[in-house]
Parts: sequence; C-alpha cells; structure tokens
Amino acid sequence: MMNGNENRIQELEEALRAAEEANRAKSRFLSSMSHDIRTPMNAIAGMTAIALSHIDEKARVQDCLQKIQTASSHLMSLVNDVLDMSRIDSGRLALNEEQFDLADLVHDVAVIVRPQAREKGQEFRLEIGRVRQELLLGDPLRLRQILVNIISNAVKYTPEGGIVRISFSQRVEPERVWLDFVCEDNGIGMSGDFLLRIFQPFERVRTAQVSRIEGTGLGMSIVKNLVDQMKGTISVESREGEGSRFTVALPFPAAARETRTAFLPGRTVLVAEARDAGQTEECLREIGLEPVRLAAGLEAVAWLTEARCEGRMPCAMLLGQSLADMPVLDAARHVRQLAGREFPILLASEEDWASMEYQATRAGVSAFVPCPIFPSRLYSALSQLLAGEQETAGDLSGQEEDYSAFRALLVEDNELNQEIAIELLGMTGVQVETAGDGAQALEKFSASPEGWFNLIFMDVQMPVMDGYEATRRIRALPRRDAKRIWIVAMTANAFIEDVRLSQEAGMDEHISKPVDLKRLKDTLRRLLPQERDGAQTGEELP
Ligand code: ADP
Repeated sequence: MMNGNENRIQELEEALRAAEEANRAKSRFLSSMSHDIRTPMNAIAGMTAIALSHIDEKARVQDCLQKIQTASSHLMSLVNDVLDMSRIDSGRLALNEEQFDLADLVHDVAVIVRPQAREKGQEFRLEIGRVRQELLLGDPLRLRQILVNIISNAVKYTPEGGIVRISFSQRVEPERVWLDFVCEDNGIGMSGDFLLRIFQPFERVRTAQVSRIEGTGLGMSIVKNLVDQMKGTISVESREGEGSRFTVALPFPAAARETRTAFLPGRTVLVAEARDAGQTEECLREIGLEPVRLAAGLEAVAWLTEARCEGRMPCAMLLGQSLADMPVLDAARHVRQLAGREFPILLASEEDWASMEYQATRAGVSAFVPCPIFPSRLYSALSQLLAGEQETAGDLSGQEEDYSAFRALLVEDNELNQEIAIELLGMTGVQVETAGDGAQALEKFSASPEGWFNLIFMDVQMPVMDGYEATRRIRALPRRDAKRIWIVAMTANAFIEDVRLSQEAGMDEHISKPVDLKRLKDTLRRLLPQERDGAQTGEELP
C-alpha cells in the first residue's frame, strides 16, 4: 500500500516537474518570440521610413526594399513555424498526398540553402546516390520543410569556413520507396544531454554562442512531428565542438513507374570532369549511353580530335563542374571550335543557370543540367539535343512562355493583394480583369461571352460572397465554359482542410499567398496549353 502511494507521489512529482519545465519553456519562448518578431518588424518599419524620406535616390530605395524583403520573408517563416506548432499541438496538421518530382524538390532545396552556406564561406556538398524513382507520392512542401530546416541548422550552427555535406539515396521495396537523407556538419555540435531534448518545442542549446544565433527552438520539433506523421525515422548523432549528423528515412508509396524511351545503343558521351563523376556515369548508363571520362580540358580536346579523324565522335559532351587544367567554359570554347556548330555540349553545374547563361552560350554550351544530376534531367536535355531540335540551353531551363493570348479574372478584395497579383500576372503576359468579391466575380463571369476567360484566380475569404460560394455558383451556371474554366484558389495557407474544401467547391488548384512569380508560372504552365514538342526517337524501355 505504502509502495503504491509512494509510486503515485513520485509520478505526480514527475508530472509536476514536466509541467513546470513546459511552462518555463513556454515563457522563454514568449520572450524570445517577442524579440524575434520585433527585430524584423523594426527593420521593415525603419527601412520603409528611410526609403520614404529618400524617395528620389534610386539606389538607396532599392537597398531599403531589399532589406525589407529579407526581413519580411524571415517574419513570414517565423509566423509559419508558430502556426505549424499550434496546428501540431491541436492535432490539426494533415499531410497532402500528391505526385511530385524528387529532382525538382532537391534542386529547390539547394537553391534555398546553398546561398546561406556560401555566405558563410562553407564548403557545401550535395550528393545523390542511386535514384530509381524520381516521381513520388507525398507532401512535397512538408518534405521540403524537413530538409530545409535540418540543412539550415547545419549551416547556422557551423562556423564560417566549415563543411556541410548532404546526401540523398533511395531503397526500393515492392510496396514503397525509402528516401534516405543524411546531413552532416563539422560545426559546434550538441551535448548528449541536449540531444535528449532536441525534439521538444522551444528547446535550444543554452550557450552564449547559440543565443547570438537567430532561432526559436521550434524547427526540430516540427521536423520530428512531420517525420513521425510520414511514418519515417529521424536520428541525431553529435559531439560538442565536433559536429552533428542527422539521418532521416522516409517511406513513400511507389508512384507511377517511370518509363523512358531508350537512346540507340552504342552511343558514347564524353564526360569532362576533374571531380568524382561516378554518379554521372551511372546516370548515363541508366539511360543507355556509354560514358568516357577525362579529367582535363586538353585531354578532352586531344581525344575529340582523334575521335573525329577516326570517325567515332561521341554523340555529345558533358562538361562537369571543374577541370584539372582550365576553366570549363574555356574547354567549351575549344571544343566548339573543333567539333563544329552542331555538336551538343552539355554543361552540368550547381550554379544558377540564369547567372551564367550569357557567358556559357557565348562559349558554345548548347544546354544545361542542374547538379546534382538526376537521370530524368540528363535524359531530357540529351534527348532534346539529339533529336536534332534547335533548342538552345535557355529553352531547357525555362524559356519565357508567353500567355498574352489568355485572360484571367482575378477575384480579390484586398486592394494591396490585388495590386501585387496584377503586377505578377502582368509579368507573365496574361490579360487580367478584376472583381472585388465573389458576387462581383459571378456577375462578371455571367456577363462575359462564352470562353472569354481562361482561368479565375479566386481569393477564398471575401466579404459579400466568399470564394467557395462563388465557385459553386459559377460551376452551376448553365453555360459550357462554367464547368471547364480553371479556378485556382488563392489562400493564405494551403492546409489540407482548405484544399479539400476548395476541391469540394469545384476549384482545380491551389496557390498560397503571398503569391510568388515562380509558383504562378508553374501553375500557368500546368493549366494553360503551350505548343511544346518533345518528339523522341528509339524504342520504349520497360
Ligand atoms: P532554432 O530555431 O533554435 O534553430 P531548432 O528547433 O531548429 O531551433 O533547433 C533546436 C536547437 O538544436 C538549436 O537551437 C541548436 O541549439 C540545436 N541544433 C540544431 N541543429 C544543430 C546543428 N546542426 N548543430 C548544432 N546544434 C544544432
């Protein structure tokens, strides 16, 4: 009896301690939150005031606007974290399930984190192992959130000049595909004691070094919750002063099998790359091509000269990130001179194509593949070149589509948001008409000739008539285009409940606010027909 009581008392004491600790963590969180919110808010308010008082000095205003942009995106991510946390707390965080492309996702993540590492002069290595299934079924936004959180931390908690190494690989099982992700750094590390608490909300290492680094202590807890919901695993190994290693394994149900048309067998590709190119060579073999690898530019030129004399030119050349003896673009120039105008020269790089396009095309590069190289990217670049289409590299990396033949109805009650959306849509060429609420939208659509609008961007929360109701009424109109017109919901947050509600109301797509140009273009590309040609030769692979 005595024993039972003692146990009970012990349990209660533990519960009390846990509650007190949670309380302390919450107060710490509130005080750091108010600091974290104030900092970017001060920047936004201050910079706005400076810009207003120097409105005629273009460079100054531009500088202010850039700082405002940085501060507001930081604020946005903070708000998102807090919202996620409260959704997790109340068990309302649901995952989407949609088909997505792993290559896109990994490249997106790289675009976000690579500049952070570069700013700190860190060596940032992103490698992929064997990837057999690029199309996966799951929640790409949440997956991206997991990856960006872990990698950003590695960059954040590793001093200048350190190393951050990321790798992705896959294990294919009959029913599912496992994505294995490892992120290693040689940064400040964590004590064994802290590792026990790292996934608890609001927890941060309590040292002067860490407190100087911006953070709320919510990221890891969100990550852990997301990984659990995805039925995956996450583990951390770390040593103070030496570094950390995060390992995540996530299962995805196998999506549609990928089929590609094989290239004609026996064709070679010359790979010029000083670094390890094993994965690139494997990618080439996977799509039916035979790689020949050389590490230096001069070697490549000599090899090509000989091959040309002997009539065994490769079908293309793949220039890697660095050569043993010269800058890669110099090598491109030599090869272009030697091999003539038509010879396909592909450049693989982790740099942003837009920043090098001009130089690279002038040096003779015909197409671009982003690093790390995924088989599908290499395949599509090569098949376009080898099909003899006169596509330039710019075409592959997203030629500016022209949507001026299309007309959209923008339904949005907030004037500022309306202005932003009109500006962004204007950049894509789409013609825009506006409506201030659902009722006006219904009226405008009903009064328009059939086929006048190609799509509707529909805000959800609006006075008079909300977006769901307006969509239902438009869909019910007795005219042919009422069922067919694309209706894209624009909401502040694409929670799965919102997605479900908007689908039930008859909307086709979701775009979350703040709307950005890339998302908008992606949506237009998906919905609006463009003349694109992807003719390939050869036979179907199983
Ligand atoms: P924060 O917003 O503070 O970065 P997180 O929840 O993302 O919060 O991480 C919690 C804490 O874990 C961090 O404050 C930091 O002390 C520690 N931490 C996370 N990742 C690393 C890492 N790669 N190296 C060292 N410490 C880390």
